This record gives sequence, C-alpha cells and structure tokens, in this order.
Amino acid sequence: MLNYNIRIKGVKDGSHEYFFNIDSEFFESFIDSEVTNSEIKVCAKLFKDGNKLNLSLKFSGEIHNLVCDLCANQIVVSVENSISILLQESESELEDTDEIVYIHPNQHELDISQLIYEGIILSIPSKREHVGKEEDNCDKEMIALLNKYTQKEEKNDPRWDQLNKLKDLI
Ligand SMILES: [Zn+2]
Repeated sequence: MLNYNIRIKGVKDGSHEYFFNIDSEFFESFIDSEVTNSEIKVCAKLFKDGNKLNLSLKFSGEIHNLVCDLCANQIVVSVENSISILLQESESELEDTDEIVYIHPNQHELDISQLIYEGIILSIPSKREHVGKEEDNCDKEMIALLNKYTQKEEKNDPRWDQLNKLKDLI
C-alpha cells in the first residue's frame, strides 16, 4: 500500500509541495473504481498562514482504461483539473464538504488518497467518445458490427413478438 499522507502538524508558514504519480497501483485500493489505469501527476500544495491551512491539488495526465461509447475501442481521457480545499480544525467529528475537510487538532498527517480519487473521477467527461480529430477516431468497422448485432438482437428477441402481438390487438 502506497503512502499518500501529507504532514499538516508543525509545518512552517508558507507553501509545501508534494508530488504523486497516480497509476494502476493507486486504484488497487479503490476496488469499485471504474478507472483502473492512468498516468496522472498530482501536485499537492499545502499553504499555511497562521491558523489557516489550505490544500490545493493539481491533476495532469491521462486515464487509459476507458472505452468509447460508440465503437467500444479504448479512448485516452485527459485529466486537467484542480481542486482547492480548506483544512479546518475541529474537536468534533464533522462531515467533510467539497470545500472543507475537517481535521482533529492533534492530527499530524492527512491521507489525501480519497481526495485524489475524487478529483480524478470528477474529471471524466460525461460523453466518452472519440473526438474524431487527428488520430482520435472511432473504429468504423466496429460500429458497423455493433449496429448489425443490435439490429439482429431486436429481431430475434421474443419480447418484440409479444409487443407486436399486443400492438395488433390494440
Ligand atoms: Zn469510438
């Protein structure tokens, strides 16, 4: 298990940077993850100003294991994202929000693996398709094959016969 802890106690005022490479090993601890392979650099910057602690994460890289919705071939999803979070001390256990992560006053380190995971998942576009530019094109043969299959299935599906019978009755 790799370590994604950053020190938050006893740090000097100013900014402190940490770098992480996120690849398939990272996602082994997220068993439900749809993303399983990537090449993403994360720069975590902790900024301390007196009692104020701010954490920013910058993501840059690519996800390698997602497939195109149209042709089912692999696509490269680029990840360029950044998030900024306030680290707020609290004695009681409060639920974190998108902007605030609560830390205990005695806490020395913060495990940021969950934040990294969420940052990556959030950057996946809702449409997963080949862009159709330069090298990034759909596999046309595959699309033709997929279309053939779906049409055939519809024809042979007994549920369609049932539906058609119903239609005749109406
Ligand atoms: Zn495609």
